[in-house]
Amino acid sequence: MHEAREADVAVVGAGLAGLAAARAVVAAGHSVVVCEARDRVGGRTLDHDLGGGQVVEAGGQWIGGGQERIYELAAELGVETFPGRSEGAKVFVFDGKRRTYDGELPPSRRVAADLVQAMLRLRRLEKRVPAEAPWEARDAERLDAQTLGAWVDRTTKTRAGRALLTLFTGIQHGADPANVSLLYALSFFSSGGGFARYAEADQHRLVGGSQALSRRLADRLGDAVVLGSPVRRIDQSGAEVVVESELVTVRARRAIVAAPPILSGSIEYRPELPSLRRQLLRAVGYGVVIKAQAVYDEPFWRAEGLSGTALGPGLAAPFAFDNSPPGGSPGVLLTFLHPRRGAALADLRPAERREAVLECFATYVGPKARQPAGYLELDWSAERWSAGCVQYLTPGALTRYGPALREPCGRVHWGSENGTVWVASMEGAIRAGERAAGEVLAALAGAAPAKERVTVTTS
Ligand SMILES: Cc1cc2nc3c(=O)[nH]c(=O)nc-3n(C[C@H](O)[C@H](O)[C@H](O)COP(=O)(O)OP(=O)(O)OC[C@H]3O[C@@H](n4cnc5c(N)ncnc54)[C@H](O)[C@@H]3O)c2cc1C
Repeated sequence: MHEAREADVAVVGAGLAGLAAARAVVAAGHSVVVCEARDRVGGRTLDHDLGGGQVVEAGGQWIGGGQERIYELAAELGVETFPGRSEGAKVFVFDGKRRTYDGELPPSRRVAADLVQAMLRLRRLEKRVPAEAPWEARDAERLDAQTLGAWVDRTTKTRAGRALLTLFTGIQHGADPANVSLLYALSFFSSGGGFARYAEADQHRLVGGSQALSRRLADRLGDAVVLGSPVRRIDQSGAEVVVESELVTVRARRAIVAAPPILSGSIEYRPELPSLRRQLLRAVGYGVVIKAQAVYDEPFWRAEGLSGTALGPGLAAPFAFDNSPPGGSPGVLLTFLHPRRGAALADLRPAERREAVLECFATYVGPKARQPAGYLELDWSAERWSAGCVQYLTPGALTRYGPALREPCGRVHWGSENGTVWVASMEGAIRAGERAAGEVLAALAGAAPAKERVTVTTS
């Protein structure tokens, strides 16, 4: 049965951004309908049930210092946090040699010095790039003509330093840095107060999994959220915005599209979107990110003094983290498959990929890692309604089409992956959704929209 509804605002997508937008609209006394393509909420947050009341996160999970909006929201919704890191020694594997270490950077002094000088240079560049308008940075075009990967290659002096910085920056973008515009990377890091702060935003996880936030937001919205209903067309050629989805057609005064931008491009728009917006969508990239996790009866590495944190930039699973639920039972090790080799690894048969991952875990924490009680993985690039991990922009895109990232198209507003604070994170998603809601509420009230709340502190 296809339903017809009327609301002040129609929202496309029930990830954190769409739900945060809907919540803000309702809090201001307006009606909303949220159309979600999947049969679940949460988008790129997804909890996997381990049994016994425990979950692990198959998508976004870590939060950290400076991400105050997600901590506030979790507290409001009654979702607790717990430490995201575990105690013990870390492991570094390079050129076939395995070493343990305790500090933040790998054991070799030469490599650590190389990384520190590169990160200082990165910090100096980041400070020149305003996250809200990177295209206005001095040298914007020069920075946008280069890739992050080329900059890392040029700036690092040791092989291990290069491999590690390629890995660290690649993980942040969920992509090979060789594809990412340097200007985009700088604006991305600058939006969270710098690369170092992004790398440290793993201080906490959410008890019960990060998807719990979306589930609780959706519960409060009740039947305003329509699941299993992909939006096919948005027509604003008449007096209203008509959002047509599989199960419901919503007549609204405004629409907020909180689907990943690359997917927003496959919706049909009447009238057609402006050229700048269409060109922007062609310059958006997503890497291949497969998040793989092995489940053990217990985190056996802890008894051996290991934290479960390991770095092996040459390996198929180039890092590992202890991802056990609170209380440490069962034990879980997590990795993302290598950003540079993602596509090749994605094409392996699942059993081969599992073996490759477990072999890396065995190198990191010992042979017991070869016998997990369970194994799970998710290739986000194969997810029909996600298209990948997080968005990046290719060289030239920001300086040519950047202003189209947030610019509403008539009565259609954009609410996902286009924020200016903590871009490409759960925090960024909440803020982007709330910013889009702020634009809509201001338009409904006939006032100018408030600016996005910028509260990032830099050290
Ligand atoms: C593997 C992985 C690890 C990550 N790790 C972290 C982390 O540790 N910390 C962190 O902060 N962030 C992390 N992130 C990023 C974070 O999860 C995302 O930035 C955030 O969840 C995005 O939220 P969103 O609402 O903007 O988009 P989404 O979560 O993608 O939500 C968009 C919604 O729109 C729906 N949709 C798409 N098209 C349509 C359509 N046509 N009609 C209707 N609905 C549609 C989708 O189904 C989806 O539910 C990670 C992401 C991944 C994939």
